[in-house]
Amino acid sequence: MENGIGLDEAGVLEVLQLPDDRLPEALQLAHEVRMRWCGPEVEVEGIVSLKTGGCPEDCHFCSQSGLFTSPVRAVWLDIPALVEAAKQTAATGATEFCIVAAVRGPDERLMAQLREGVKAIRAEVDIQIAASVGMLTQEQVDELVEMGIHRYNHNLETARSYFPKVVTTHTWEERWETLRMVRESGMEVCCGGILGMGESLEQRAEFAAQLAELDPHEVPLNFLNPRPGTPLSEQPVLEPKDALRAIAAFRLALPRALLRYAGGREITLGDLGTRDGLLGGINAVIVGNYLTTLGRSPTEDLELLRELKMPVKALSKTL
Ligand code: SF4
Repeated sequence: MENGIGLDEAGVLEVLQLPDDRLPEALQLAHEVRMRWCGPEVEVEGIVSLKTGGCPEDCHFCSQSGLFTSPVRAVWLDIPALVEAAKQTAATGATEFCIVAAVRGPDERLMAQLREGVKAIRAEVDIQIAASVGMLTQEQVDELVEMGIHRYNHNLETARSYFPKVVTTHTWEERWETLRMVRESGMEVCCGGILGMGESLEQRAEFAAQLAELDPHEVPLNFLNPRPGTPLSEQPVLEPKDALRAIAAFRLALPRALLRYAGGREITLGDLGTRDGLLGGINAVIVGNYLTTLGRSPTEDLELLRELKMPVKALSKTL
């Protein structure tokens, strides 16, 4: 780690298996590694859903699948609402605005909406635009680059060996292929997943190692928030200490990545745990609401960052 090289799979597993009394030490080391390779800044991002619900895929954690009985209706956002959301996100000090759609991959209509939306945001708001619209073809990757999307999110969600237990309508390898094309295009790669879906500690370590192999710019860490109507609705929420062990372990596996708190941290960690994670390797947050559940208020998060003396990363002047 002195040289910026992360722990391998066996090392990650050791951290995930540490007894509770060693956890503070692991978090402390993860914090030092984050400060050494990423500094004290925290990247703040807002997300907005361009198309919510009605997805044909069957990711068992997801209330936006049209195949489950979850109470999420298919809704499209219009362009003025998208621009307004970008403005509100920028007003929190966030540098990143991610447009998300619940789809297997974008069709013509979605690509057209995205193109129009990105143009409208760029005309009015000073913020970097990221996108997350599922699996892509090479042509679509090229189009996103042309639109000026600088970061693309596509989560591997879980370890390759566990993926078929969670998703049956597409493969882990298909997701990897999109990530490969995104990386080659020059867009920044954002790739993470959800912990606490029933995977073993070995599989959690496997996942961290697979992410390290991909070497993404950003890794969003979600903790399962079991949604009514989904196949994982009865899955118990991760124990806070297991979540913190995972945060430390993923940071130690990925010393240079932006490690972002994404969904589920409120129910898994609560307020105190949120602070522990920020002092244990996390250096990016999502402000406001997630796609289908409410998050903490932006003010609370921004106040906590101020208290921890972690400056919000400013928008690069060169952009
Ligand atoms: S995770 Fe994405 S691809 Fe899977 S069901 Fe939800 S919206 Fe669809």
